[in-house]
Amino acid sequence: MIYDCAVIGTGPAGVSSALNLKIHNKNFIWFGSKSLSEKVQKAEQILNYPGFYAASGDTLQAAFRDQIEKMGIEITESMINEIVKFGDHYALMAGADFYEAKTVILTTGVSVKATLENEAEYIGRGVSYCATCDGSLYRGKKIAVLCNNARFEHEVRYLAEIAADVQYFPQYKELGAFPENVTIRRERVLGVQGAMKVNAIVTASGTTEVDGVFILRDSISLSSLLKGLASEDNHILVNRRMETNMPGVYAAGDCTGRPYQYTKAVGEGNVAAHSAIEYLDETGNAP
Ligand SMILES: Cc1cc2nc3c(=O)[nH]c(=O)nc-3n(C[C@H](O)[C@H](O)[C@H](O)COP(=O)(O)OP(=O)(O)OC[C@H]3O[C@@H](n4cnc5c(N)ncnc54)[C@H](O)[C@@H]3O)c2cc1C
Repeated sequence: MIYDCAVIGTGPAGVSSALNLKIHNKNFIWFGSKSLSEKVQKAEQILNYPGFYAASGDTLQAAFRDQIEKMGIEITESMINEIVKFGDHYALMAGADFYEAKTVILTTGVSVKATLENEAEYIGRGVSYCATCDGSLYRGKKIAVLCNNARFEHEVRYLAEIAADVQYFPQYKELGAFPENVTIRRERVLGVQGAMKVNAIVTASGTTEVDGVFILRDSISLSSLLKGLASEDNHILVNRRMETNMPGVYAAGDCTGRPYQYTKAVGEGNVAAHSAIEYLDETGNAP
């Protein structure tokens, strides 16, 4: 099935896009987390969201969740690793799963730059963002895994089933249980090293030889997500219709730039959805 639209990200921008696509009866798929956005959840008190005076992030998040449920909107709990132009539409990869959509709305939040030394250089040569895609390449080997969110722990356990030795660098507090071949290392990771391929990870305490490095982050760099997407200072370039430089691809929220605010995200998510709907009409792609 080719969806009318794929929305990527479940923060306020994604919520707003999804509501508008639903109201307009579009056949869309929405990727992200059922817990929506950590950035909403973490806010202690919100003073600039109309209609919710001094609400906590939890309150706003609960209201979002209630509205999504009442409108019968589903979330597909997957991280999109890569989007590829596929004729007149787009193919989206979530681990081993593959989806197709005529339009895409990116609401991924502030995207993380390749932050480790040499990380960008070794993408595809020992640096991977996807356990499901690349885990099998490391059967019986020694790998390092960096992770900034407990919700990816199942991927760490999956990697531990394949690799002989997992050096795990969690960047969050409360840890779940891991098998014996996982060594927990509370150290700051500085970079990766290698020749043709990665051969070591560098931390503040020194260098550890590894065959590969998995980086499991809440969001991945824009350049890895969709090749050819124009960006500036790590934000997606958009016009007032939230159009990117790629036909049928829109962006909204923090990923398009400052100010990083809920209401900007919600407004842009709305515009992006309407632009996608117009594009479907204009290109004769509407059902
Ligand atoms: C502690 C704190 C307090 C704040 N207080 C306020 C405030 O009072 N007022 C205000 O206006 N703003 C506030 N903000 C800022 C506000 O949280 C952000 O501007 C807003 O959440 C941006 O919404 P968004 O939808 O663009 O992105 P986000 O809320 O960051 O959501 C993006 C979502 O996309 C998901 N995602 C990313 N990549 C992928 C992928 N490849 N596949 C699937 N899903 C993906 C992420 O996991 C995330 O769930 C606060 C932020 C913080 C951290």
